[in-house]
Amino acid sequence: MDPLEIPPGPLFLEPDAPPCYRIGIDLGGSKIEGIRLTPEGRLEYRDRVVTPQGTADDYAAILSAVVDLTAAILRGTPDGRHSPAVGIGIPGSLDAATGRVHNANATSLIDQRLQADIEARLGRPVGMENDANCFAAAESRMGAGQGHRVVFGIIMGTGVGGGLVVDGRVHHGRHGIAGEWGHLAVAPEGRRCWCGNRGCVETLLSGPGLAAAYETRFNAKASPEAIVEGYRRDDAACSVIFEEFLEDFGRCVGGLISILDPDAVVLGGGLSNIDELYTLGAERVRRYAFHPAPQTPILKHRLGDSAGVFGAAWIGR
Ligand SMILES: [Zn+2]
Repeated sequence: MDPLEIPPGPLFLEPDAPPCYRIGIDLGGSKIEGIRLTPEGRLEYRDRVVTPQGTADDYAAILSAVVDLTAAILRGTPDGRHSPAVGIGIPGSLDAATGRVHNANATSLIDQRLQADIEARLGRPVGMENDANCFAAAESRMGAGQGHRVVFGIIMGTGVGGGLVVDGRVHHGRHGIAGEWGHLAVAPEGRRCWCGNRGCVETLLSGPGLAAAYETRFNAKASPEAIVEGYRRDDAACSVIFEEFLEDFGRCVGGLISILDPDAVVLGGGLSNIDELYTLGAERVRRYAFHPAPQTPILKHRLGDSAGVFGAAWIGR
């Protein structure tokens, strides 16, 4: 969905925080997107630039691109009683102790002190969160999770990310890893995960995980889309793999609900467009959650690809 097409609706504005302009920057592998929200939470400006790659020093180039885009949006911000908040979403995690980026799929960011470097260049604080936390914050504030106090956001795409939002705020935990449910190791005999463990939720519920399950079983390749499509027309091989996928989804999300008992779970990422997750998948979730009749809604995202940049605005400082 184009962010400018987001319909105005009731927004979760913090009763205890002074209203201010909010600038969100979403640093992605191919583009860097920036927006500005008014103190009322309405989108009033949007811009994007290409993410530099293949330069002599990609980190320096990305840093400059983020700083320049942020500075330009800051310069255009009308004067208000409170200084604007700036938040940046990144494709990786921030180590709570060292402030360095880790687990980033944009390798030039790894081990860099991105937040500190941006703050030094801008001369002001900025908030920074991984993309799953931004997704969860945005869907909780202005998307599918609106009206729910405790929202768990799940991104099922090339990986599996998670974020926990309570009353509109991201919960970080002791090490800054709260919500990293994608690396819960649930299958000891399962496939090796890039994190070093075996059988992580990510190896089961990501797009590559679904494709790998098919390849391992049938020694043939099929894309996640082809597997889902095959299941829908009763192809035997696709049905076996997709039934297992639904079962894994039920077990993993059911367990998550047993631990957190959130008010809503919101799904994003490419695989979240599989309709069966909200019917057959949700049925299995209810079977595995530790309650006779769990009511937890499993919701499809409402903000689409724009959740990252909106979430960045909401986690700003
Ligand atoms: Zn893992």
